[in-house]
Amino acid sequence: MNYKIAVVAGDGIGPEVMEQNIAVLNAIGKKFNHTFEYTYVLGGGCAIDKYGEPLPQETIDVCKASDSVLLGAVGGWQWDTLPGDKRPERALLGLRGALGLYANLRPATLHDALKDACPLKPELVADGVDIMVVRELTGGMYFGEKGRKMTDMGEAAYDVEQYSVKEVERITRTAFEIARKRNKHVTNVDKQNVLESSRLWRSVVLEVAKDYPDVELDHLYVDNASMQLIMRPTTFDVIVTGNIFGDILSDEASQMTGSIGMLPSASLGEGTLGMYEPVHGSAPDIAGKDLANPIATILSGAMMLKYSFGLLDEAKCIEDAVTKVLDLGYRTGDIMSEGMKQVGCKEMGKLIIENL
Ligand code: NAD
Repeated sequence: MNYKIAVVAGDGIGPEVMEQNIAVLNAIGKKFNHTFEYTYVLGGGCAIDKYGEPLPQETIDVCKASDSVLLGAVGGWQWDTLPGDKRPERALLGLRGALGLYANLRPATLHDALKDACPLKPELVADGVDIMVVRELTGGMYFGEKGRKMTDMGEAAYDVEQYSVKEVERITRTAFEIARKRNKHVTNVDKQNVLESSRLWRSVVLEVAKDYPDVELDHLYVDNASMQLIMRPTTFDVIVTGNIFGDILSDEASQMTGSIGMLPSASLGEGTLGMYEPVHGSAPDIAGKDLANPIATILSGAMMLKYSFGLLDEAKCIEDAVTKVLDLGYRTGDIMSEGMKQVGCKEMGKLIIENL
Protein backbone atom coordinates (compact mmCIF):
# COMPACT_ATOMS: atom_id res chain seq x y z
CA MET A 1 0.00 0.00 0.00
CA ASN A 2 0.97 3.62 -0.56
CA TYR A 3 0.33 6.18 2.19
CA LYS A 4 0.69 9.97 2.07
CA ILE A 5 1.93 11.43 5.35
CA ALA A 6 2.27 15.12 6.26
CA VAL A 7 5.21 15.75 8.58
CA VAL A 8 5.25 18.77 10.91
CA ALA A 9 8.55 18.24 12.70
CA GLY A 10 8.37 21.61 14.50
CA ASP A 11 10.95 23.06 16.88
CA GLY A 12 13.55 22.05 19.46
CA ILE A 13 13.91 18.27 19.66
CA GLY A 14 10.95 17.86 17.23
CA PRO A 15 13.10 17.38 14.09
CA GLU A 16 15.55 15.02 15.89
CA VAL A 17 12.93 12.64 17.22
CA MET A 18 10.97 12.85 13.95
CA GLU A 19 14.07 11.79 11.98
CA GLN A 20 14.21 8.57 13.99
CA ASN A 21 10.46 8.04 13.61
CA ILE A 22 10.72 8.33 9.81
CA ALA A 23 13.70 5.96 9.75
CA VAL A 24 11.71 3.35 11.70
CA LEU A 25 8.65 3.79 9.44
CA ASN A 26 10.83 3.40 6.34
CA ALA A 27 12.27 0.18 7.75
CA ILE A 28 8.71 -1.07 8.42
CA GLY A 29 7.71 -0.10 4.87
CA LYS A 30 10.57 -2.17 3.50
CA LYS A 31 9.78 -5.14 5.74
CA PHE A 32 6.03 -5.22 5.02
CA ASN A 33 6.07 -3.83 1.48
CA HIS A 34 4.40 -0.42 1.97
CA THR A 35 5.42 2.96 0.60
CA PHE A 36 5.24 5.95 2.90
CA GLU A 37 5.39 9.24 1.03
CA TYR A 38 6.25 12.23 3.24
CA THR A 39 5.51 15.92 2.69
CA TYR A 40 7.39 18.15 5.14
CA VAL A 41 5.58 21.32 6.18
CA LEU A 42 6.26 24.03 8.73
CA GLY A 43 4.31 24.57 11.95
CA GLY A 44 5.15 26.31 15.24
CA GLY A 45 8.14 28.59 15.83
CA CYS A 46 9.93 27.69 12.59
CA ALA A 47 6.80 28.76 10.64
CA ILE A 48 6.69 32.05 12.56
CA ASP A 49 10.33 32.71 11.56
CA LYS A 50 9.65 31.99 7.89
CA TYR A 51 6.06 33.16 7.36
CA GLY A 52 5.26 35.30 10.43
CA GLU A 53 2.52 32.90 11.58
CA PRO A 54 2.57 29.55 13.44
CA LEU A 55 0.18 27.71 11.11
CA PRO A 56 0.42 28.73 7.44
CA GLN A 57 -2.50 27.83 5.17
CA GLU A 58 -0.17 25.61 3.11
CA THR A 59 0.45 23.43 6.16
CA ILE A 60 -3.29 23.03 6.75
CA ASP A 61 -3.88 22.22 3.07
CA VAL A 62 -1.12 19.60 2.93
CA CYS A 63 -2.32 17.97 6.17
CA LYS A 64 -5.92 17.85 4.91
CA ALA A 65 -4.82 16.24 1.64
CA SER A 66 -2.77 13.54 3.42
CA ASP A 67 -3.74 10.16 4.83
CA SER A 68 -2.26 11.11 8.18
CA VAL A 69 -0.19 13.74 10.04
CA LEU A 70 2.92 13.23 12.15
CA LEU A 71 3.87 16.04 14.51
CA GLY A 72 7.10 16.47 16.49
CA ALA A 73 6.84 19.33 18.99
CA VAL A 74 6.51 23.09 18.83
CA GLY A 75 7.68 26.02 20.95
CA GLY A 76 10.79 27.50 22.48
CA TRP A 77 12.09 30.50 24.41
CA GLN A 78 12.64 32.52 21.18
CA TRP A 79 8.86 32.89 20.79
CA ASP A 80 7.87 33.11 24.49
CA THR A 81 7.19 36.86 24.42
CA LEU A 82 4.73 36.75 21.50
CA PRO A 83 1.02 37.34 22.26
CA GLY A 84 -1.12 34.19 22.85
CA ASP A 85 -2.65 33.95 19.38
CA LYS A 86 0.74 34.32 17.66
CA ARG A 87 2.60 31.70 19.71
CA PRO A 88 3.91 28.39 18.26
CA GLU A 89 1.41 26.35 20.32
CA ARG A 90 -1.44 27.88 18.27
CA ALA A 91 -0.34 25.51 15.49
CA LEU A 92 -1.51 22.52 17.57
CA LEU A 93 -4.97 23.90 18.35
CA GLY A 94 -5.30 25.22 14.80
CA LEU A 95 -4.49 21.86 13.24
CA ARG A 96 -6.79 19.93 15.57
CA GLY A 97 -9.61 22.34 14.71
CA ALA A 98 -8.91 22.40 10.95
CA LEU A 99 -8.77 18.59 10.78
CA GLY A 100 -11.84 18.09 13.00
CA LEU A 101 -9.95 15.96 15.53
CA TYR A 102 -12.18 15.48 18.57
CA ALA A 103 -10.78 12.33 20.20
CA ASN A 104 -7.46 12.32 21.99
CA LEU A 105 -5.95 8.90 22.70
CA ARG A 106 -3.22 8.70 25.32
CA PRO A 107 -1.95 5.26 26.19
CA ALA A 108 -0.13 4.80 29.48
CA THR A 109 1.89 1.60 29.26
CA LEU A 110 4.48 0.59 31.81
CA HIS A 111 7.20 -1.54 30.22
CA ASP A 112 8.48 -4.33 32.47
CA ALA A 113 12.02 -3.07 32.02
CA LEU A 114 11.05 0.38 33.39
CA LYS A 115 9.09 -0.80 36.43
CA ASP A 116 11.72 0.75 38.73
CA ALA A 117 10.93 4.18 37.28
CA CYS A 118 7.25 3.92 38.27
CA PRO A 119 6.52 5.95 41.41
CA LEU A 120 3.92 3.41 42.64
CA LYS A 121 4.74 0.45 44.94
CA PRO A 122 5.91 -2.58 42.88
CA GLU A 123 3.02 -4.78 44.08
CA LEU A 124 0.49 -2.26 42.66
CA VAL A 125 1.92 -2.54 39.13
CA ALA A 126 3.07 -6.18 39.22
CA ASP A 127 0.43 -7.20 36.64
CA GLY A 128 1.52 -4.45 34.22
CA VAL A 129 -0.14 -1.11 33.45
CA ASP A 130 -1.79 -0.74 30.04
CA ILE A 131 -4.40 2.02 30.07
CA MET A 132 -5.84 3.96 27.14
CA VAL A 133 -7.36 7.32 28.07
CA VAL A 134 -9.83 8.51 25.42
CA ARG A 135 -10.40 12.20 26.04
CA GLU A 136 -12.95 14.42 24.28
CA LEU A 137 -10.85 17.17 22.77
CA THR A 138 -13.01 19.92 21.31
CA GLY A 139 -15.87 20.46 23.79
CA GLY A 140 -16.51 21.05 27.48
CA MET A 141 -15.48 24.10 29.45
CA TYR A 142 -12.22 24.65 27.51
CA PHE A 143 -14.36 25.65 24.53
CA GLY A 144 -17.61 26.72 26.26
CA GLU A 145 -18.85 30.25 26.79
CA LYS A 146 -16.54 32.17 29.12
CA GLY A 147 -16.48 35.63 30.55
CA ARG A 148 -16.55 37.93 33.53
CA LYS A 149 -19.42 39.66 35.29
CA MET A 150 -20.19 41.62 38.40
CA THR A 151 -22.02 39.80 41.20
CA ASP A 152 -22.99 40.77 44.77
CA MET A 153 -19.66 39.13 45.77
CA GLY A 154 -17.74 41.41 43.39
CA GLU A 155 -16.17 40.48 40.06
CA ALA A 156 -16.67 36.85 38.97
CA ALA A 157 -15.50 34.72 36.04
CA TYR A 158 -17.17 31.72 34.41
CA ASP A 159 -16.37 28.91 31.94
CA VAL A 160 -19.38 26.90 30.81
CA GLU A 161 -19.20 23.09 30.69
CA GLN A 162 -21.50 22.06 27.85
CA TYR A 163 -21.79 18.82 25.87
CA SER A 164 -24.23 17.89 23.13
CA VAL A 165 -25.60 14.38 22.56
CA LYS A 166 -23.70 14.17 19.26
CA GLU A 167 -20.38 15.14 20.88
CA VAL A 168 -20.74 12.48 23.59
CA GLU A 169 -22.00 9.85 21.17
CA ARG A 170 -19.03 10.10 18.79
CA ILE A 171 -16.34 10.03 21.52
CA THR A 172 -18.10 7.11 23.23
CA ARG A 173 -18.17 5.15 19.95
CA THR A 174 -14.44 5.84 19.50
CA ALA A 175 -13.78 4.44 22.98
CA PHE A 176 -15.88 1.31 22.43
CA GLU A 177 -14.29 0.64 19.03
CA ILE A 178 -10.82 0.90 20.61
CA ALA A 179 -11.85 -1.34 23.52
CA ARG A 180 -12.92 -3.98 21.00
CA LYS A 181 -9.33 -4.08 19.73
CA ARG A 182 -7.97 -4.30 23.31
CA ASN A 183 -9.40 -5.98 26.42
CA LYS A 184 -13.07 -5.08 25.81
CA HIS A 185 -13.56 -3.00 28.93
CA VAL A 186 -14.61 0.68 29.03
CA THR A 187 -14.68 2.79 32.19
CA ASN A 188 -16.74 5.94 31.79
CA VAL A 189 -15.63 8.83 34.02
CA ASP A 190 -18.04 11.67 34.80
CA LYS A 191 -19.53 13.59 37.74
CA GLN A 192 -23.20 12.87 37.24
CA ASN A 193 -23.99 13.17 40.96
CA VAL A 194 -23.37 16.94 40.63
CA LEU A 195 -23.21 18.11 37.01
CA GLU A 196 -26.15 18.27 34.58
CA SER A 197 -23.69 17.99 31.67
CA SER A 198 -22.45 14.71 33.21
CA ARG A 199 -26.01 13.40 33.54
CA LEU A 200 -26.50 13.87 29.82
CA TRP A 201 -23.02 12.40 29.21
CA ARG A 202 -23.84 9.27 31.24
CA SER A 203 -27.21 8.71 29.55
CA VAL A 204 -25.61 8.87 26.09
CA VAL A 205 -22.83 6.48 27.11
CA LEU A 206 -25.44 3.98 28.34
CA GLU A 207 -27.37 4.30 25.07
CA VAL A 208 -24.26 3.80 22.87
CA ALA A 209 -23.17 0.84 25.01
CA LYS A 210 -26.24 -1.10 23.81
CA ASP A 211 -24.49 -1.41 20.42
CA TYR A 212 -21.45 -3.02 22.08
CA PRO A 213 -22.77 -5.93 24.19
CA ASP A 214 -19.36 -7.63 23.91
CA VAL A 215 -17.65 -4.76 25.78
CA GLU A 216 -17.89 -4.48 29.56
CA LEU A 217 -18.85 -1.00 30.81
CA ASP A 218 -18.53 0.54 34.25
CA HIS A 219 -18.69 4.09 35.59
CA LEU A 220 -16.67 6.14 38.07
CA TYR A 221 -17.07 9.66 39.38
CA VAL A 222 -13.96 11.63 38.47
CA ASP A 223 -12.79 12.11 42.08
CA ASN A 224 -13.05 8.36 42.72
CA ALA A 225 -11.39 7.61 39.34
CA SER A 226 -8.32 9.63 40.35
CA MET A 227 -8.01 7.45 43.49
CA GLN A 228 -8.72 4.13 41.79
CA LEU A 229 -6.08 4.87 39.12
CA ILE A 230 -3.45 4.88 41.85
CA MET A 231 -4.90 2.06 43.95
CA ARG A 232 -5.61 -0.46 41.16
CA PRO A 233 -4.00 0.78 37.91
CA THR A 234 -3.71 -2.71 36.42
CA THR A 235 -7.51 -3.20 36.31
CA PHE A 236 -8.21 -0.43 33.76
CA ASP A 237 -8.39 -0.90 30.00
CA VAL A 238 -10.06 2.05 28.20
CA ILE A 239 -11.17 5.19 30.06
CA VAL A 240 -13.56 7.55 28.25
CA THR A 241 -14.14 11.02 29.60
CA GLY A 242 -14.64 14.72 28.82
CA ASN A 243 -12.04 17.33 28.02
CA ILE A 244 -11.08 18.69 31.43
CA PHE A 245 -11.36 15.36 33.33
CA GLY A 246 -9.33 13.67 30.56
CA ASP A 247 -6.67 16.37 30.67
CA ILE A 248 -6.07 15.69 34.36
CA LEU A 249 -6.49 11.89 34.40
CA SER A 250 -4.26 11.30 31.36
CA ASP A 251 -1.43 13.20 33.05
CA GLU A 252 -1.97 11.19 36.24
CA ALA A 253 -1.91 7.89 34.31
CA SER A 254 1.16 8.97 32.35
CA GLN A 255 3.24 9.27 35.51
CA MET A 256 3.17 5.49 35.89
CA THR A 257 5.24 5.01 32.72
CA GLY A 258 8.60 6.36 33.86
CA SER A 259 9.23 9.36 31.60
CA ILE A 260 7.47 11.86 29.41
CA GLY A 261 9.87 10.68 26.68
CA MET A 262 7.93 7.37 26.51
CA LEU A 263 4.42 8.74 25.90
CA PRO A 264 2.79 8.77 22.46
CA SER A 265 -0.62 10.22 21.56
CA ALA A 266 -3.15 10.28 18.76
CA SER A 267 -5.90 12.74 17.86
CA LEU A 268 -8.70 11.33 15.71
CA GLY A 269 -11.84 12.62 14.00
CA GLU A 270 -14.64 11.12 11.90
CA GLY A 271 -12.54 9.52 9.14
CA THR A 272 -9.21 7.74 9.25
CA LEU A 273 -7.10 10.92 9.12
CA GLY A 274 -5.38 11.44 12.45
CA MET A 275 -2.57 13.46 14.00
CA TYR A 276 0.10 11.57 15.91
CA GLU A 277 2.55 13.23 18.27
CA PRO A 278 4.57 12.62 21.44
CA VAL A 279 3.07 14.06 24.63
CA HIS A 280 6.27 15.96 25.44
CA GLY A 281 7.18 19.44 24.24
CA SER A 282 10.15 20.75 22.28
CA ALA A 283 12.60 20.37 25.22
CA PRO A 284 14.78 23.34 24.24
CA ASP A 285 17.18 22.49 27.12
CA ILE A 286 18.39 19.33 25.31
CA ALA A 287 17.69 20.24 21.66
CA GLY A 288 20.48 19.59 19.16
CA LYS A 289 22.52 17.51 21.64
CA ASP A 290 21.42 14.01 20.57
CA LEU A 291 19.99 13.51 24.08
CA ALA A 292 16.27 13.25 23.35
CA ASN A 293 14.36 10.01 23.80
CA PRO A 294 12.71 9.27 20.42
CA ILE A 295 10.50 6.43 21.76
CA ALA A 296 7.37 8.58 22.36
CA THR A 297 7.50 9.77 18.75
CA ILE A 298 8.28 6.31 17.37
CA LEU A 299 5.35 4.84 19.32
CA SER A 300 3.17 7.66 17.92
CA GLY A 301 4.18 6.39 14.47
CA ALA A 302 3.04 2.91 15.55
CA MET A 303 -0.31 4.39 16.64
CA MET A 304 -0.66 5.95 13.18
CA LEU A 305 -0.14 2.55 11.54
CA LYS A 306 -2.77 1.03 13.84
CA TYR A 307 -5.50 3.69 13.96
CA SER A 308 -5.23 5.48 10.59
CA PHE A 309 -3.98 2.68 8.33
CA GLY A 310 -5.25 -0.45 10.13
CA LEU A 311 -1.75 -2.01 9.95
CA LEU A 312 -1.91 -3.90 13.23
CA ASP A 313 1.00 -6.32 12.66
CA GLU A 314 3.27 -3.49 11.55
CA ALA A 315 2.36 -1.43 14.64
CA LYS A 316 2.99 -4.40 16.92
CA CYS A 317 6.35 -4.97 15.26
CA ILE A 318 7.44 -1.46 16.33
CA GLU A 319 6.04 -1.84 19.86
CA ASP A 320 7.79 -5.19 20.28
CA ALA A 321 11.09 -3.76 19.01
CA VAL A 322 10.89 -0.94 21.60
CA THR A 323 10.24 -3.50 24.35
CA LYS A 324 13.16 -5.63 23.14
CA VAL A 325 15.61 -2.71 23.12
CA LEU A 326 14.56 -1.75 26.65
CA ASP A 327 14.87 -5.39 27.78
CA LEU A 328 18.40 -5.42 26.33
CA GLY A 329 19.21 -2.59 28.76
CA TYR A 330 19.53 0.37 26.38
CA ARG A 331 18.34 3.71 27.78
CA THR A 332 18.33 7.38 26.81
CA GLY A 333 19.29 9.83 29.58
CA ASP A 334 15.71 10.47 30.79
CA ILE A 335 15.11 6.76 31.61
CA MET A 336 18.70 5.88 32.55
CA SER A 337 19.29 3.81 35.68
CA GLU A 338 22.26 2.02 37.24
CA GLY A 339 23.73 -0.87 35.26
CA MET A 340 22.02 0.13 31.99
CA LYS A 341 23.68 1.25 28.74
CA GLN A 342 23.12 4.93 27.93
CA VAL A 343 22.63 5.84 24.26
CA GLY A 344 21.68 8.98 22.34
CA CYS A 345 18.62 9.72 20.22
CA LYS A 346 20.18 8.45 16.96
CA GLU A 347 21.53 5.26 18.51
CA MET A 348 18.15 4.50 20.11
CA GLY A 349 16.47 4.84 16.70
CA LYS A 350 19.09 2.56 15.13
CA LEU A 351 18.65 -0.08 17.84
CA ILE A 352 14.87 -0.10 17.38
CA ILE A 353 15.32 -0.61 13.62
CA GLU A 354 17.77 -3.46 14.23
CA ASN A 355 15.21 -5.16 16.47
CA LEU A 356 12.17 -4.82 14.21
P1 NAD B 1 8.95 19.69 27.60
O1 NAD B 1 8.10 18.49 27.50
O2 NAD B 1 9.50 20.22 26.34
O3 NAD B 1 10.17 19.39 28.60
C1 NAD B 1 9.99 19.07 29.98
C2 NAD B 1 11.23 18.31 30.48
O4 NAD B 1 11.23 17.00 29.95
C3 NAD B 1 12.56 18.95 30.04
O5 NAD B 1 13.50 18.78 31.06
C4 NAD B 1 12.96 18.14 28.84
O6 NAD B 1 14.36 18.09 28.63
C5 NAD B 1 12.40 16.76 29.17
N1 NAD B 1 12.00 16.04 27.96
C6 NAD B 1 10.92 16.29 27.19
N2 NAD B 1 10.86 15.45 26.17
C7 NAD B 1 11.94 14.64 26.27
C8 NAD B 1 12.45 13.57 25.50
N3 NAD B 1 11.86 13.13 24.39
N4 NAD B 1 13.60 12.97 25.90
C9 NAD B 1 14.22 13.36 27.01
N5 NAD B 1 13.79 14.37 27.80
C10 NAD B 1 12.66 15.01 27.43
O7 NAD B 1 8.09 20.81 28.36
P2 NAD B 1 8.44 22.33 28.65
O8 NAD B 1 9.89 22.47 29.00
O9 NAD B 1 7.42 22.78 29.60
O10 NAD B 1 8.16 23.10 27.29
C11 NAD B 1 9.18 23.42 26.30
C12 NAD B 1 8.49 24.03 25.09
O11 NAD B 1 7.64 23.04 24.49
C13 NAD B 1 7.57 25.21 25.44
O12 NAD B 1 7.72 26.18 24.43
C14 NAD B 1 6.18 24.60 25.44
O13 NAD B 1 5.19 25.54 25.15
C15 NAD B 1 6.31 23.57 24.35
N6 NAD B 1 5.37 22.44 24.43
C16 NAD B 1 4.96 21.92 23.25
C17 NAD B 1 4.15 20.79 23.26
C18 NAD B 1 3.78 20.19 21.93
O14 NAD B 1 4.34 20.54 20.93
N7 NAD B 1 2.84 19.25 21.91
C19 NAD B 1 3.75 20.20 24.46
C20 NAD B 1 4.22 20.75 25.66
C21 NAD B 1 5.04 21.87 25.63
